[in-house]
Amino acid sequence: MSQPCRHYEVVSQLVEKAAIAMQLDPQVKELLREPMRTLTVSIPVKMDDHTVKVFKAFRCQHNNVLGPFKGGIRFHHQADEDEVKSLAALMTYKCALVGLPFGGAKGGVLCDPSQLSAGELERLSRGFVRAIAPIIGPDQDIPAPDMNTNAKIMGWFVDEFAQVRGVYQPGVVTGKPVALGGSQGRTEATGRGIMYVTREAATAFGLELKGATAAIQGFGNVGSYAAKFLYDEGCKIIAVTDIFGGVYDPSGIDPYQLKEHELKTGSVRGFTGTSPISSQELLALKCDILIPAALGNQLTAENAGDVKCEWVVEAANGPTTPEADEILQRKGILVIPDILANAGGVTVSYFEWVQNNYSYYWSEEEVDQRLEKVMADAFDEVYETYLSGEGTTLRVAAYMVALQRLAKAMEARGWVTT
Ligand code: NAD
Repeated sequence: MSQPCRHYEVVSQLVEKAAIAMQLDPQVKELLREPMRTLTVSIPVKMDDHTVKVFKAFRCQHNNVLGPFKGGIRFHHQADEDEVKSLAALMTYKCALVGLPFGGAKGGVLCDPSQLSAGELERLSRGFVRAIAPIIGPDQDIPAPDMNTNAKIMGWFVDEFAQVRGVYQPGVVTGKPVALGGSQGRTEATGRGIMYVTREAATAFGLELKGATAAIQGFGNVGSYAAKFLYDEGCKIIAVTDIFGGVYDPSGIDPYQLKEHELKTGSVRGFTGTSPISSQELLALKCDILIPAALGNQLTAENAGDVKCEWVVEAANGPTTPEADEILQRKGILVIPDILANAGGVTVSYFEWVQNNYSYYWSEEEVDQRLEKVMADAFDEVYETYLSGEGTTLRVAAYMVALQRLAKAMEARGWVTT
């Protein structure tokens, strides 16, 4: 869906709402208004046909008052500076909300990964690391996977960074293969965190998860694990879409079998016993839980009026525009905001970084237990703020919790006049 590029402005509007509700110190708002640094780089890559192609890429470091910058790298044919800036800002608020000692960053490489050979993808990934090496490091800025990037690419990141700096530092990125110091449970973490937050919300708002119907847009890392973990909790997954199309079955889809089908065929399309459905139709399905887990700006002023779910759980970053958010609120639809819902990924990234720093590794069970606690505590804090009447929505409440932490740190570091 093509939308005018105003991603950063959208995040600023969300912050503004919370800032007004909590009477935030204007100095704090001013310090958060623009990212601290955005680096634009051009990456020359030798293509398989012996030509050279130059790819544009960005690394935005939004704010680091709480600790080193942290955020994923996205390979996408529509990546642009405005989007990367907005995603970096979301990371600042997400890390603050769940109480991680990290700031916010994001990277974007403008490319269509489906058109690159394995060799070209590796040379592009390594080229990006060389280009941003001066500003990243385990205590400076720690990238991670995002759309179209994965553990394998993070492995190349670690290796290239070691070659550039002459020191092997696995803590420079998270989401690495376990063989290189990746954490158990990192791949599943965002989807698992979505399930934990949904479960907490179900208890708080009185929804029976057993038998609750869910529709999921996007079946990549986040969407597929969210589907599996919610299915394990008894949810009925009635529809799933990916970039190529979608599947619908009101009697429920087994996400484990759907994943096997997707791995074999490259898409969820054509899964046995289902009928086709488009992403737009999925967003308008009557269901209990709608989970956008693909791109930003999917629920807009144009289609939010058609949404018929009870809850929207934002697995993707920024899937709801502010106009759509207001429409959903008027319709009485509960929105669990992205900075809360999908914080499981960065939380286990933090665990990975801690394990790298200690060179001491935890079991998957230990990782999951810690993740569950972080997600449950974050939900409780947001819910309490929401109930206290200060925040009008869970999103405003989530930003208020995050802004409070950022303001306290800025005050303690002497960044603002008290
Ligand atoms: P991914 O590349 O693994 O998967 C993306 C999925 O979305 C794929 O199934 C793809 O086919 C689908 N998709 C793309 N365009 C679509 C469209 N127009 N309609 C329907 N489906 C479409 O990416 P991911 O890591 O799962 O990330 C998904 C979202 O979650 C992104 O917004 C990302 O920023 C956010 N997120 C990811 C993580 C993480 O740990 N990976 C953490 C927090 C947030």
